[in-house]
Amino acid sequence: MMKDGTVRTRFAPSPTGYLHIGGARTALFSWLHARHEGGAFILRVEDTDAQRSTKESSLQILKAMEWLGLEWDEGPIYQSQRLDIYRSYVQKLLDEGKAYWCECTPEELEAKRKTALEKGEKPKYDLTCRSKGLGPGPGRVVRMALPSSGFTSFDDMIKGRISVDNAELDDFILLRSDGMPTYNLVVVIDDALMNITHVIRGDDHVNNTPRQVLIYEALQFDLPCFAHVPMILGSDKTRLSKRHGATSVTAYKDMGYLPEALVNYLVRLSWSHGDQEIFSRQELIDLFDIRDVGKSAAVFNPEKLLWLNHHYIKTGDPDRLARLLPDFLTARGYPVPDHSYIRRVIVDVRERTKTLEEIVDFGDFYFIDREPPAELKESFFKPELLQPFRMLIERIENLDLSEKTAVEGAVKSLLDETGIKFKVLAQPMRVALTGKTVSPGIFEVLATLGTERAVGRLKRALAYMEQKSENT
Ligand code: GLU
Repeated sequence: MMKDGTVRTRFAPSPTGYLHIGGARTALFSWLHARHEGGAFILRVEDTDAQRSTKESSLQILKAMEWLGLEWDEGPIYQSQRLDIYRSYVQKLLDEGKAYWCECTPEELEAKRKTALEKGEKPKYDLTCRSKGLGPGPGRVVRMALPSSGFTSFDDMIKGRISVDNAELDDFILLRSDGMPTYNLVVVIDDALMNITHVIRGDDHVNNTPRQVLIYEALQFDLPCFAHVPMILGSDKTRLSKRHGATSVTAYKDMGYLPEALVNYLVRLSWSHGDQEIFSRQELIDLFDIRDVGKSAAVFNPEKLLWLNHHYIKTGDPDRLARLLPDFLTARGYPVPDHSYIRRVIVDVRERTKTLEEIVDFGDFYFIDREPPAELKESFFKPELLQPFRMLIERIENLDLSEKTAVEGAVKSLLDETGIKFKVLAQPMRVALTGKTVSPGIFEVLATLGTERAVGRLKRALAYMEQKSENT
């Protein structure tokens, strides 16, 4: 907590790839903690690794954050623009004798590492340069001078108290030979200068934290609170990776998932509130407490995510969903009809479709006119239906098909007069209208397609029946 009680959290991605869903969950927890506490959420791009960081990756991560609705209050702050700040703190540590220059070459270090391993010892920098009193020079790095005894401890809000024997740590590098500062140093300087009160991050960093605590102490910065969030695992209990399916937030967006479904899914990994499964964003803000995050790793379950997505497709505002659909139509090469038409399609199909992509798949016939496949025509457009189809067309072609009661009435009177059962007529109608044997209700389909499309397709089926009856 800052002296004035304001909470400040951050998300600090390295732009070396896409936003992984594990990273997205960390960002979500950090964002929720800030929102729950009425604090600020800062976005900081950790791009000091010039070789691996790319502008495209930063942009993609920012876009994925925006899509998830994890809006930040400050930033994005790019570490690559703050190198002078970091170097000035390295100088301060050098001046105070808390860090030193080291001239050991990578080859020498590798040889020492090998010897240590051969002796069955833990490889560790052997302090060769610590007392040499070296200054800067080509190929030299700056190392932190660590205490050789005692313990370094901190209280983790999720994992509890963590203590490390300083003898286990070695004089790690603060500044590389190319003049670039290392992660452990810059993360501390930034978290301190940006007044971050709660460092919430993946527990793959928990081993770095004692080193960071030592830097906090050396620079006389106040220690923030730490919360290390457990990993997300695949179904085989190994760390979630591409082998388990899509792992990038953008991939889920492109597959037609809704951000609220992904947010709702991710928050429930390692966090719960009784047995509640569905949470609105406001409920999450009200209920989320980082202290309630569990210690154990969570297993990613794609079916549950799909189930949640279906929930949000079924219950979402159809106008909003209709605004999201054109991208999916365009991706498929389908024309984009007007908004109100798309909206009606969504209302027709959403009970049976779990993603925006499935809406386009299952409801493709609303957007394109494709003749039914030959085998369906053969089995459903029987010559004996010729007369009923002709009557059907005559009776509905002048109706407004969105007037469902009138259309149902017209079909019913036709059935009464001809003695045909609805199911005998319905499936051939469905095939004529949709090219498929499974679709939303016939009257919904008629209403949404509208007279021109629907009657055109029924007439095409009729023409087929006529031709068939002529040939028999
Ligand atoms: N840039 C680090 C990462 O992406 C951030 C770790 C942290 O939050 O301190 O893993």
